[in-house]
Amino acid sequence: MRIDLMTLFPQMCEAVMNESIIGRAVKSGILEVNCHNIRDYTTNRQRQVDDYPYGGGTGMIMQVQPIFDCFEEVVRQCGVRPHFIYMSPQGAVFRQCDALRLSQMPMVTILCGHYEGVDERTIEMLADEELSAGDFVLTGGELPALMVADAVARLVPGVLAGEESWRDESIASGLLEYPQYSRPAEFMGRAVPEVLLSGHHANIVAWRRHKALERTLRRRPDLLETAELTQQDRDYLESLKSGGGDC
Ligand code: SAM
Repeated sequence: MRIDLMTLFPQMCEAVMNESIIGRAVKSGILEVNCHNIRDYTTNRQRQVDDYPYGGGTGMIMQVQPIFDCFEEVVRQCGVRPHFIYMSPQGAVFRQCDALRLSQMPMVTILCGHYEGVDERTIEMLADEELSAGDFVLTGGELPALMVADAVARLVPGVLAGEESWRDESIASGLLEYPQYSRPAEFMGRAVPEVLLSGHHANIVAWRRHKALERTLRRRPDLLETAELTQQDRDYLESLKSGGGDC
């Protein structure tokens, strides 16, 4: 998969995309990530990318021309037009299902806005969709774009050890994940739950399922409306609601 990030701060994006699991996938060639400096596509001597908003108001607006020309170059390099995303607090809130959908595309380009955002014609002419990191406003689209790029990239086959690495996780599984522990078996008087040390696989699986259901009910009951649940799961949830369960 190829991911192109269009930004005023390519070094910020490169620093993140070249680290850890994603960085290893880039080095091994499973992923191709390119960070483009929109400023390189300005046509004025000052390399200015922003200008005052028509009609007045505070702040500056990123101009359409350098963004348009930057994307033309991305299209030229790709040979086809990649799917284009504009990161914006006005977009649909990004979800795990979006990450899965985007990971199945061969090429995705993500535009990071700055200042007061981009000239509206950029969105009209280029954007296939607008995605938001959530209901808050940041100074720039780099962090949201990197968040999307990371969530998408780790679903590309070969980036993680196997599909089960992410299928069983919080959200992707439909529930929140059960609590996890590692060595030591006891730390400052806090012991790892006995069942996890028992070696009894079936009991461990059952305990984890109960904990996942319990956490989801307490923290994200909305997820239970769409989660795939067995009758046993439903019975356990009912017992929790009526004050029972093994929590
Ligand atoms: N004036 C814009 C508005 O009210 O909708 C907000 C502009 S924001 C200060 C600057 C840039 O940061 C945006 O163009 C966008 O790319 C990015 N940004 C800020 N918050 C974001 C969020 N929650 N999700 C995605 N991108 C965001």
